[in-house]
Amino acid sequence: MIQIQKFTVNPFQENTYILWDDNGEGVLIDPGCYTVEEEKEVLEFIKNNNIQINAILHTHSHLDHCFSSGYFASLFKVNIWIHKDDIITYNSFEKVCSMYGIPIRHSLPQSYKLYSLNDGFSFGNSHLEIRFVPGHAPGHVIFFAKEEQFVVNGDCLFYQSIGRTDLPGGNHATLLSSIRKELFTLPSSTVVYCGHGPETTIGSEVNTNPFLR
Ligand SMILES: [Zn+2]
Repeated sequence: MIQIQKFTVNPFQENTYILWDDNGEGVLIDPGCYTVEEEKEVLEFIKNNNIQINAILHTHSHLDHCFSSGYFASLFKVNIWIHKDDIITYNSFEKVCSMYGIPIRHSLPQSYKLYSLNDGFSFGNSHLEIRFVPGHAPGHVIFFAKEEQFVVNGDCLFYQSIGRTDLPGGNHATLLSSIRKELFTLPSSTVVYCGHGPETTIGSEVNTNPFLR
């Protein structure tokens, strides 16, 4: 049984997630902590719950989702995992930070691992299905915990909204069709954990999301 904990961090109010199972093994998704205090809060939670972090997973590598990926990767001596179409975004992290005038506290490591959509991602006794959902970013993926019926969906679907598509590689029509194909086909009771803002469910967004009527 996978448990999930959310932390809202950095000036972009990004949601960082820890997923862990009964085995005590876990993953860190989109660690966007920007301050030492934010990093401490995540670390303390990991320590207090005796979680062994096995990997850092990116839904996509926009700067607000990976400010502390480099820090946690070296601290836990684990790899960062991305989709192959996300490499270009991953590699432009430092350039985009300086474009925004944001000092870089932790660079991203040069090396990373690439997801296999067929294999998904396993940790402890648990498994996450990985679905490819481009549109907000070209190499965006989501993580579906089938047994627990929740999805960590980054910046694709938000409560009553959808991700912006005006950033490099973004495409509005692609995002809408990806959401319909990969998210709206999940069970309607599935809880959707978003990269920003509150949780929602597939059923409620299918019925009421103004961008997808
Ligand atoms: Zn994003």
